[in-house]
Amino acid sequence: MSGMNFQYWHPEKEKIDRAKLGAWQLASLKKTLGGALRTDFYGRRLAEAGIVDAEDVKSLDDLRRIPFTTKHDLRAAFPYGMLAVGKDEVLRLHASSGTTGVPTTIYFNRNDIASWTALVARSIFSTGCDRRDVFQNMITYGLFTGGLGFHYGAEEVGMLVIPSGSGNTPRQFRIMQDYGTTVVHATPSFLLHVESRMREEGVRRDSIRLKRAFAGAEPYSEDTRRRIEELLHIDVFNSYGLSELNGPGDALECQCKNGMHLWEDAFLAEVIDPDTLEPLPEGETGELVLTTLCREAMPVLRYRTRDITAFYTEPCPCGRVHRRIRRIKGRSDDMLIVNGVNIFPSQVEEVVMGIKEAGNNYLIVVEKEGFMDRLTVKTEVGAKIFKDDDARVLNALRENIRRTLQTAITVNPRIELVESNSLPVSEGKAKRVLDKRPKDV
Ligand code: ADP
Ligand code: ZN
Repeated sequence: MSGMNFQYWHPEKEKIDRAKLGAWQLASLKKTLGGALRTDFYGRRLAEAGIVDAEDVKSLDDLRRIPFTTKHDLRAAFPYGMLAVGKDEVLRLHASSGTTGVPTTIYFNRNDIASWTALVARSIFSTGCDRRDVFQNMITYGLFTGGLGFHYGAEEVGMLVIPSGSGNTPRQFRIMQDYGTTVVHATPSFLLHVESRMREEGVRRDSIRLKRAFAGAEPYSEDTRRRIEELLHIDVFNSYGLSELNGPGDALECQCKNGMHLWEDAFLAEVIDPDTLEPLPEGETGELVLTTLCREAMPVLRYRTRDITAFYTEPCPCGRVHRRIRRIKGRSDDMLIVNGVNIFPSQVEEVVMGIKEAGNNYLIVVEKEGFMDRLTVKTEVGAKIFKDDDARVLNALRENIRRTLQTAITVNPRIELVESNSLPVSEGKAKRVLDKRPKDV
């Protein structure tokens, strides 16, 4: 890390001292409460908790008096129950991708778009990108926040932005070659797919100028990061966001690549025990809860993200004071229970991506077999191994994956090896789990 040249987009905000940051947070929280109290939803919800005026909150510790907000609340307030400004003031809406049900809708006024854009710009700049970069945004545009969120932030930095969107892999290579793309944004699963297609089609590494990628929107392991970095010879930065809290620009890794700075002048962050709902001591792993500090059209208070993470306790060498969160372990609601054992898809991914001969894509299938659950992991293998058609090599690989996985998750999985690029590829978030068990058992 030595010799790194740290650059700041908003030095006065990124390196603000913690006492000043606290004062800013309290003032912003009050402003946010003022807005929230004007909405149908929070007006009622806060009154029930004895908060009828923004001044009822006197310190940041009083945050705990504010009730949590869940995805369910956002759906119940659909469409306009959480709007804190007149509809004529709203410029744009986005909706979450609906991974776990009906999408939730978020509204932005002019100031909200500006502050979101500034956060994304600050994040992009912290990875070492600047106006000389050519940025290919290989992610879904539209209702999904990842497309326009990064687009605006990258323009703010002054990069040349190519709104390529996701999908159409061969065209993506051509764009990279034609315009000399230096940085891309994509889901990690799409990056892995791009890489294997490049190999298949014989695209030479020296025909592209790629240096960096922002990868996010779905959980992935450190091994996956390393795999993408080594295969594509680039630096990969983890990018975290959710549409309820703007989308991208909530937290992104800086050049140090050791945790994602969560912008604490825009969000109040807590990590709670998802069972007791009590805040956890700094550094312990739990559910991330976020409160918006500078959103006007739709303030969101103590939003339960369901994402499992922890704060790093030591400061980052880059000098930013904003605390960093660890790689998201998964959502509390995507945990699988297989024969009574709790398994996060991320544990499976860590094993698969850690085995070099395993390919870039995999799928977890859970079924009922009699009274028992059966876990199968379909894993792609490199085209070369498959063509060799050497049963001994394939068997050894299958057994290696099985044994390593069993040690990691304690359940004995069935491993099915399939040809590379044969499993479904999603252009947005990857669907890693196929749970075929009857729902009401
Ligand atoms: P949905 O909640 O319908 O998937 P979003 O598009 O808002 O809609 O997705 C946000 C969610 O995506 C986050 O709550 C988190 O679970 C996941 N996510 C986003 N970025 C990352 C990341 N870098 N690592 C892990 N998970 C991520
Ligand atoms: Zn840093």
